[in-house]
Amino acid sequence: MDRPGPERVGPADRHRRCLQPHRLLERGDRRAVPRGRRQLGRGDPGGVVLQDPGDRGRGPAVHQHLRRALLLRALGGLEGLLLAGRLDQLPARPHQGDQGVTGTLVASFDTLGLACDPGTAVKARVPIGTLHEGTPVTLPVHVLHGAHPGPVACLTASVHGDERTGVFILAEVLGAIDPAELRGTIVAFPVVNPLAWMSDARVAPLDASGTNMNRAFPGRPDGSISDRLADAVQTGGIARADYCVDFHDGGCDCHARFTIVHDSTDADLVAGNRFLAAAYGNGMPVVLTPPVATTGMGGMITRAANTLGTPAICVELGGHGPVDPAVVAEGARGLRRVLVARGNLPGDPPEPEVLQELGDPYWLRAEDGGIWRPSVDVDAVVEAGDEIGTVADVFGDVLAVVRADVRCTVVSLRRSATLMTGDWICYIAPTPAGDR
Ligand SMILES: [Zn+2]
Repeated sequence: MDRPGPERVGPADRHRRCLQPHRLLERGDRRAVPRGRRQLGRGDPGGVVLQDPGDRGRGPAVHQHLRRALLLRALGGLEGLLLAGRLDQLPARPHQGDQGVTGTLVASFDTLGLACDPGTAVKARVPIGTLHEGTPVTLPVHVLHGAHPGPVACLTASVHGDERTGVFILAEVLGAIDPAELRGTIVAFPVVNPLAWMSDARVAPLDASGTNMNRAFPGRPDGSISDRLADAVQTGGIARADYCVDFHDGGCDCHARFTIVHDSTDADLVAGNRFLAAAYGNGMPVVLTPPVATTGMGGMITRAANTLGTPAICVELGGHGPVDPAVVAEGARGLRRVLVARGNLPGDPPEPEVLQELGDPYWLRAEDGGIWRPSVDVDAVVEAGDEIGTVADVFGDVLAVVRADVRCTVVSLRRSATLMTGDWICYIAPTPAGDR
């Protein structure tokens, strides 16, 4: 869940930094590759530190990859290109379905020192640094490389460590994909912020700089540990992707349900963002946020992707308490629809939904601390002046009735029982009559 914070990074600065080589470049192919210039068939034995036990049985992928690279080098020229089945030979269709792409890939997909052969998947933990006493800090990554050409999807979750729903959604969707039937490639980071995740905290307590990962992208290879994690996701996933889907939720205190689409002066990019939101569907209200140049609210994965011209959406779904299987099922259904619509998964493209675009949302905050009792549920449409909930003191006496100041949709709602002055109560998006 995104909330106001002090971190601000200028967009131009971010774009410059995202093209810097990764600190561990010398260990392998960790370089950001500009759009349309994906590099396949490069050998890299240096970066694989841990593969899923299920992958060990198929032999050392990096050695297979090296043999393939040598073969391609020996073939050279046109034969080598055809054999490699390079994705950059395919037409770029950034916000349309890639249905109809045929052929067979034989080149591995290389990222973050991993080599994933066509028709296979690799689960690994990429080294980022170490804690005070030497415990490795690693970034979990799941790469599924299809047997057939198609777009590259970057899927992310748990940018905030107390947001778990997206991790379950990615596990459910990716676990059911047969890479042999996949078109293109999926690079997934189920826990972008592992230090915050292990602490069940929004930001990593161990990061002395207090970095909000949702303001850290594209990261810095020489910055804080959070910056370095962001940099690895940026170079290894976002910069390689044709589109991105970033999952958030309401964290420890709130339940959220909306999709964020960024506005831009680039109409094609906005169309690409909207295409993803419409494909995701599920009747999710959509929040169209102003361009970063207007708000200064940069540093999100979706902003980083859009800065590279890559369509992206942020799905805010679930949060507070145990992860709800029904919410996970809803998110998984939406993600599968996106993967089909963009041509990664076989099937008829889903009918895109008509977007329910709402006004720019804002937070209502508590004036009094005490006990919070919501009167509505998330996704409720509330008329101006209607009650959203009450704040009472510990004796049960009502201190404040929280009311909507405009007709709005409650896209995120506090579920925690208590609050203090300044805490967020709900995130509301103006909703003109007739829109919902
Ligand atoms: Zn979040």
